[in-house]
Amino acid sequence: MNAELISVGTELLMGNIVNTNVAFLARECTAAGISVLYQVTVGDNKARLCDAVKTALERSDLVILTGGLGPTKDDLTKEAVAEVLGRQIIRDTHSEERMLAYLRGSIYKEIPENNYRQADIIEGAEALDNDNGLAPGIYVKDALGKKLFLLPGPPNELEPMFRNKVLPLLQSFSEKLLYSKMVKLAGISESVAETRIQDLIQNQTNPTIAPYAKSGQVWIRVTAKCTTKEEGMRIMKPVLDELEERFAEAIFTLEEEVSLEESLIQLLKERNMTVTTAESCTGGLLMGTLVNVSGASDVIREGIVTYANEAKEKYLHVSHETLKMYGAVSHQTAYEMAVGAAKMAQADAAIGITGIAGPGGGSKEKPVGTVYIGCYVNGKVIVEHYVFRGDRRKVREFAVNYAMNQLRKAILESK
Ligand code: ATP
Repeated sequence: MNAELISVGTELLMGNIVNTNVAFLARECTAAGISVLYQVTVGDNKARLCDAVKTALERSDLVILTGGLGPTKDDLTKEAVAEVLGRQIIRDTHSEERMLAYLRGSIYKEIPENNYRQADIIEGAEALDNDNGLAPGIYVKDALGKKLFLLPGPPNELEPMFRNKVLPLLQSFSEKLLYSKMVKLAGISESVAETRIQDLIQNQTNPTIAPYAKSGQVWIRVTAKCTTKEEGMRIMKPVLDELEERFAEAIFTLEEEVSLEESLIQLLKERNMTVTTAESCTGGLLMGTLVNVSGASDVIREGIVTYANEAKEKYLHVSHETLKMYGAVSHQTAYEMAVGAAKMAQADAAIGITGIAGPGGGSKEKPVGTVYIGCYVNGKVIVEHYVFRGDRRKVREFAVNYAMNQLRKAILESK
């Protein structure tokens, strides 16, 4: 099946927001065995939107539109698609009831009239419930049976709707099911990971193997074409076993939904351990990432950002001599930060991060991207030295991912 993705919104055209929806949909469609042949972005203009939909229907079997389903006058996606298909816009009572239930108890005393527009769908279409917002998605076919999906713009509404409502429908269109596992690795570079599986990628048929790089993580999607989930698992097993053999403890999960932070928090819970952080160059990004996990409070009581040398001395008792002799970005400082944090918080595990995120501050001996990460686990400390490439944001993201993975490994290796 060939697909075309249409992103709707003038703010996308003007560069005010980054089009993350199109990247998400392209990745998901490709993984589901659907070829994305065109991606189009169009502003909130009905004539141009109609043109884009007509063109898409001429050359693609499946058209997925995102954005422009809201209540305001510039939300025109439904109207444009209805016009191209020659259909009416009708009120969907089920969506109206859901919308009223959703708004009851919200900040609204009265429900603004234009909100009701969000319960309108296209004649002959199916509404897809939105579990995270007001506007339902819409699934409709044209006279030739070509399929159109109209999905909400906000990523937190679009992504679950796509995974939970659209993907099952797409899979039901084909006799074959696509079943996949995401082998997620941390602490390994993309090029090393790719080189190690070159032979598997070159010889792939069923299952297919596709690696993706994240900052400090590499994900490998293994997808089987099958008729049942059990058959899919059987087809994937030899490749999954091979990946486990080649990457061993660098693999932190095989589940799409599980993040590195979740797997770390889960491991801490299983071991009944508490954790704390002492951050310099990451400035709280590590702690922010950890507390994104619901239930993090079971294992985290406190953490600290010590940016300046004085703060490292004052709160973590990093010694003055260490800072003077080796510098704030050093093996010794990371070591003392981890130990100091563990003592301060009375935690079983601690991470100390110190580094140069750039763009300034680098030197020949310690270039931008130099990061030392100390991990304390039940009295034992391991410090690793890394040099990450990229801008300030990337270096900080890399540091956070490597730190979480380093602690995960240290815990696994501890008794
Ligand atoms: P709403 O009901 O919130 O109006 P909508 O379906 O009408 O949703 P838009 O109004 O087009 O969607 O976009 C709402 C917000 O969703 C945008 O301000 C932006 O934050 C986000 N968004 C929309 N399209 C994209 C996209 N392609 N990539 C990333 N974010 C997007």
